[in-house]
Amino acid sequence: MSKNKSSESVKVVVRCRPLNRKEESNGPSGSIVQMDLRLGQVILRNPRASQSEPQKTFTFDAVYDANSKQRDLYDESVRPLIDSVLAGFNGTIFAYGQTGTGKTYTMQGMWLDPEKRGVIPNAFDHIFTHISRSQSDKQYLVRASYLEIYREEIRDLLDPNHANARGLELRESPETGVYVPDLTSCVCKSIKEIEEVMNVGNQARAVAATDMNEYSSRSHALFLITVECGQPGPDGRKHIRVGRLNLVDLAGSERQAKTGVQGERLKEAAKINLSLSALGNVISALADGRSGHVPYRDSKLTRLLQDSLGGNAKTVMVATLGPAPQHYDETLTTLRYANRAKNIQNQPRVNEDPKDALLREFQREIARLRAQLNHRKWRSKQRKERLDGEDSEPDGDEDAEEEVEKEAEEYVKQEEQRLEREKEAIRGDRSLLADEKQKLLGEKERMMGDLRKEQEATEQLTAKYKAIESKLLVGGKNITDHTNEQQKMLEVKRQEIAEQSRSEREMQQKMLVQDDETLELRETFTSLQQEVEAKTKKLKKLYAKLQCIKAEIQDVNDEHVRSRQELEQTQNELTRELKFKYLIIENFIPPEEKNKIMSRMTFDPEEDQWKFQPLVPAESKPLEMKKRPTSAVGYKRPISQYARVAITMGAHNRFRAENIMFLELDMNPPNTASLGRLKDAELNLSSSADNSPTDDRGVHKSRSWCQSQTSLTSSSSNVSLSACTAVPASAQ
Ligand code: ADP
Ligand code: MG
Repeated sequence: MSKNKSSESVKVVVRCRPLNRKEESNGPSGSIVQMDLRLGQVILRNPRASQSEPQKTFTFDAVYDANSKQRDLYDESVRPLIDSVLAGFNGTIFAYGQTGTGKTYTMQGMWLDPEKRGVIPNAFDHIFTHISRSQSDKQYLVRASYLEIYREEIRDLLDPNHANARGLELRESPETGVYVPDLTSCVCKSIKEIEEVMNVGNQARAVAATDMNEYSSRSHALFLITVECGQPGPDGRKHIRVGRLNLVDLAGSERQAKTGVQGERLKEAAKINLSLSALGNVISALADGRSGHVPYRDSKLTRLLQDSLGGNAKTVMVATLGPAPQHYDETLTTLRYANRAKNIQNQPRVNEDPKDALLREFQREIARLRAQLNHRKWRSKQRKERLDGEDSEPDGDEDAEEEVEKEAEEYVKQEEQRLEREKEAIRGDRSLLADEKQKLLGEKERMMGDLRKEQEATEQLTAKYKAIESKLLVGGKNITDHTNEQQKMLEVKRQEIAEQSRSEREMQQKMLVQDDETLELRETFTSLQQEVEAKTKKLKKLYAKLQCIKAEIQDVNDEHVRSRQELEQTQNELTRELKFKYLIIENFIPPEEKNKIMSRMTFDPEEDQWKFQPLVPAESKPLEMKKRPTSAVGYKRPISQYARVAITMGAHNRFRAENIMFLELDMNPPNTASLGRLKDAELNLSSSADNSPTDDRGVHKSRSWCQSQTSLTSSSSNVSLSACTAVPASAQ
């Protein structure tokens, strides 16, 4: 099951977007982020600090500045990961950063501009191009799903009713890890189809975004692609490798202000960023390496990404930064986060022949349908041969199959013709009685019907077979590759260059580390003076380093204090609310009721909810509540003993089970009406002494139902009734 079991660290790359127009116009000091592309370093300047304060430097696997191209990021940092997924590894790419720093731009980019297409469309291209260029003994099945997490609820973006549906559950299996059982998954046969899937999901997100403020910046979007590849192994058996790719656009990492929020809204606010803070805790716990417990279970996001962080996956994190001075704090937090994530070690391995591979199921289904079809055709062929008087042994090669198919078709045609001829003969035969003729004709009709039915069934089977077979992509067959040789060469060269610059950067980084260590060893001093100079230089260097670290410690302390204060504030608010609830419970709920309720409550950690135990457990199923007893049979409603006796004594109006009184309401004179209507009313009054019930006089006369039926009917029938009464009135 496992192969290449080795550990590798999470790759972290940082990207800084250009200053936007607004920032350019109001920011005097320009960008606070500098990047050394060759070394993979980010240098951050604190706009509030003095010039003398050292700048903060962070080193990553790669950095991309404002001029970087989408293609560069893809070729250097993402392409190797997608190649691994195609080879059967799990892979994850997630974009992390403050809102507006380019997470969505990096992941999706601008679909219509080939230069600005992001990681996701490039990955689509990559996957399907790879399939089209692979050998023809490989079979592929590509599936895509799209989900989002908003306020700790998982929503399926491909489900048309996702807005109304309840959040999806998470399950865990030793085979595939954590997964969402009811998630829609679409089999995609081409780039166009997978783009369509992405569009459907994006539209669902866009609809939600117009309904809710800041929706898109607070929800996490996960696009999942599963690539299954079947190939005959050296042992002659077909092996299946399954690569799963998670493409994650996280919610904005900025702190959500919780001040002034209370009650339900406080809980909601806490939930919005729960996944992100849990992600931070997981990264810290993993990077630290010392703490045994990793709190994956704290949020839906961390559970879904469990494999990607410290598990069976290759992971790339793209941290996005904004260059504006006003976001210094957030930028620094993002860089720290990213710096910590570098230390996470994963254990990726190839997923070979997992039990739940859909490809295997498809292959089985195809084989079954094929066998059925062949059997049908074979039967037809044999019947034909019986007709023709030939005889042959079945053999299973391709040519024979085609022949069988042709002969089966011929058989159907011949059989039809034969039946037609026989029918004609019966019709023309004068020796038969009309009755007999009819019977024989009916018989032939039935035979023809059977033949047609059989043919239809075969056609249906063939259609089903073809539909399933078309879902499987065969290397170099289903998708045609339109790139010419020159373009292919160009692509290869570009990949080589990307590979080279990656290894160059790694070398540079290694050299930098070694330089510091070996400088001392290499130096020999000719004079005391020289030695003093060299040592002073070194002292200065070390002193600067010390200052940096001291500043770092101070920063971390400040941040710690800030987050502690926030937590304390949240705690205070929650305590206040708890006291309020206690007050209500203690004063307004009888103690015995309270105890009853308390004894029935249990906490369900799966759903993170308190639940009621059944009050009286049913005998057979202890977890189900006993049914309520039905009321006395035969009576419309429970009635008193007195009424029951009265019924048995004999009918008397007074003791009727349903003694509804008919109360005549007195007619009140109108006492409120608008001026104009009052005048009309007066006119009406004066013109006719008879006040019909349809008269509009501000206040309607109350009538009991036994007087007039109209007031009892529903509104629609009311309209029709009044219309009925109105017609003769106007006709008069
Ligand atoms: P986020 O998803 O992090 O909230 P977006 O991806 O929506 O941010 O980016 C915000 C804006 O910045 C968009 O208008 C986007 O086009 C622009 N942008 C982001 N990154 C870049 C970049 N590297 N180059 C050019 N424009 C960018
Ligand atoms: Mg976004």
